[in-house]
Amino acid sequence: MKLRVGHLYPDYLNIYADRGNIAVLARRAAWRGIELEVTPIGLGEPLFPGAHDLLYVGGGQDREQALIAPDIAARSETLAEAAAGGAAVLAVCGGYQLLGRFYRDRYGSELPGAGLLPLYSVAGDRRMIGDVLLECELEPGERRSLAGFENHAGRTMLDDDETALGRVVAGFGNNGESGDEGCRVGRVIGTYLHGPLLPRNPWLADWLLAQAAAHNTGGEPPVFEPLADTLEIEAHSVAAARARARGGKS
Ligand code: GLN
Repeated sequence: MKLRVGHLYPDYLNIYADRGNIAVLARRAAWRGIELEVTPIGLGEPLFPGAHDLLYVGGGQDREQALIAPDIAARSETLAEAAAGGAAVLAVCGGYQLLGRFYRDRYGSELPGAGLLPLYSVAGDRRMIGDVLLECELEPGERRSLAGFENHAGRTMLDDDETALGRVVAGFGNNGESGDEGCRVGRVIGTYLHGPLLPRNPWLADWLLAQAAAHNTGGEPPVFEPLADTLEIEAHSVAAARARARGGKS
């Protein structure tokens, strides 16, 4: 199998090693005999719905977000069609904010988003920085934890009755008030968690690969053989302990 990944704006939205998420997906796929074909998609470059099994967009400073916002907003129909067609999506921090309706940055400029996620974001005066720990349940009955690092001025508000990626155990999350973090709509995941996210949360990497494989075959998400993940589990425990030591939000 060859999974097709579209990496949006790798030159602009790639802070805190977000590019590392692609490396993890590629390695974990290879360990299962699956090839990952990664296509960078820059400003004004073509993106066709159905052409990718997984779309990825990383984080960035307000300045970079301002450069790409009109471009990603212009892709709202294409992204909606891709998601409706079952493509998996992972969006981190600045990319996550720009999959919502808009991000009002610290200069007060309202940057248009793709409107794929039911949310909007507004920059506050104080940055939300530190290790984060979440409790998630992407599959009914499968409680999992996610550990990562956040650094954002944006406060994200989900629309009523929409689903967050997880509940904050330690850290700020979406806005430091609601107690939730990220957003999930089907196979579309948005989160503030950097680190990069996937090396210390291998279960989420495998979940995304399985969703992408389901899109590729038109079938059900496969259940992959578990990997040893000794280092990954250790990295997760260290990050989770740091987050817990930090407590709620400080
Ligand atoms: N610039 C955005 C903010 O400050 C996103 C930051 C990021 O991607 N880390 O909220």
